[in-house]
Amino acid sequence: MENGHPSEPRFVCDDHLGKLARYLRVGGFDAAFDRDMTDSRLIRIALDERRWILTRDHRLVERTLVRNLFFIEQDRWPDQLRAVLARFGLTFRKNRLFSRCLEDNGWIEPVSKESISQRVFPFTYQHHEEFFLCPICRRVYWSGTHVEAMIRRLERFGIMVSG
Ligand SMILES: [Zn+2]
Repeated sequence: MENGHPSEPRFVCDDHLGKLARYLRVGGFDAAFDRDMTDSRLIRIALDERRWILTRDHRLVERTLVRNLFFIEQDRWPDQLRAVLARFGLTFRKNRLFSRCLEDNGWIEPVSKESISQRVFPFTYQHHEEFFLCPICRRVYWSGTHVEAMIRRLERFGIMVSG
């Protein structure tokens, strides 16, 4: 399955913004990032994949010809996240939380419970019905209390989640 929200902006985050990338993924937004993100790689991914660069680096802003670039002034991830949501008019929605793999940005897919029976602990298997698989890293995700916990966490940081 491809990204189900083709009209949304897609992002690539510089190496200072790993936490922002992770929280964008929590909201189901497409945020490329990895630990070895050099400036040249950042720019190449932005151009090749038509992504917005999110960066904390003043010099990069001055050096690059990439126009789709948003400078992040804030130090803390909740402030950074609020700035990105406001700039691009995005909202966190409950039904999209955890629709992406937090590790690699993969779009996770529903799988049958039986198909992952050997991949999760028996307790988890017994107590959950809906399971999802990341096609990139093969991590198994399940819906559960962590969704409600994440909503409370986000709201504590001033990021509203609509229903
Ligand atoms: Zn993954």
